Amino acid sequence: MKKKLIAGNWKMNGSLSANKTLVDALLAGSRNAQCLVAVCVPAPYLAQVQQLVDGSVIALGGQDVSQHDLGAFTGEFSAAMLKDFGVRYCLVGHSERRQYHGETDQVVAAKAQRALAAGITPVVCVGETLAEREAGHTEEVVKRQLAAVIHANGHCISEIVVAYEPVWAIGTGKTASVEQAQQVHAVLRGQLRAATAQADRVHILYGGSMNAGNAAQLLAQPDIDGGLVGGAALKPADFLAIIAAAQ
Ligand code: PEP
Repeated sequence: MKKKLIAGNWKMNGSLSANKTLVDALLAGSRNAQCLVAVCVPAPYLAQVQQLVDGSVIALGGQDVSQHDLGAFTGEFSAAMLKDFGVRYCLVGHSERRQYHGETDQVVAAKAQRALAAGITPVVCVGETLAEREAGHTEEVVKRQLAAVIHANGHCISEIVVAYEPVWAIGTGKTASVEQAQQVHAVLRGQLRAATAQADRVHILYGGSMNAGNAAQLLAQPDIDGGLVGGAALKPADFLAIIAAAQ
C-alpha cells in the first residue's frame, strides 16, 4: 500500500522568523513520520525553507507555477526556477487561484504540464462551489477540471497528485462528511482508471478544513490518500496530529 501524503498549504502567511519556528517544530515532531510530508510555502521563502528542511522527511512545495516556460511575464516564476530551489511538489489550480486570478481549466492543465516537464509533481486542485453542489453538479465540475489535465498530460498522468477541495469547505470550518468526500474521491479514481493502468498509484488528497479531530476518519476512507491542509498547517501541534493520523 502506498504511503499517505500530508501537504500543508501555508497560503500567504509567514515571515522569516515565524517560518523557522514552525519548521523547527515540525522537524522535531515528524522525524518518525510514516507518511510523506510536504509544506507548500510562499515563493519568497522557498530558499529559506529549502535550507531548513534539507535532509529531513519534509519535502518542499510551491503554491503556483507559470504556464509559460520563460520570458516577458513580469511577476511570474517558472517550473525550472522552482526546481532550482529543490521544489518537489507544486499546487496548481487551487480554488483561490481559480477564483481571484481567473485561472481556467486550460491554464491549470498547462501549469501541470510545465511542472511535470521540470520533474515537479503537480498537486492538481479540483472542487465544486456550494452553488454547484446544491445544483447537483459536483461530479460534473470535478470531472471537467480533471479531464483538462488528463487531456494535456495523458502520457504521464500517473505522476500527478489530485487534491479534492470542495470550495465551500476551504477555510470555513465546514468539512465534507467522510461519505461525501469518499464518494467524490471514488469518482476521481474512476476517471483516472479510465486514463491510466497506474491510477492506484496516484495520491488523491482531501482538502477543506481538515484538522486534528477529523483527519483520522477522512484518511481511513479507501480512496483518500492524504490531505491538503491549510489553516491547521500553520499550527505545529495540529499539523503533527494530522501527520500522526496518517500512519
Ligand atoms: C487549502 O487552502 O488548501 C485548505 C484546505 O485550507 P483549509 O484547510 O484552511 O480549509
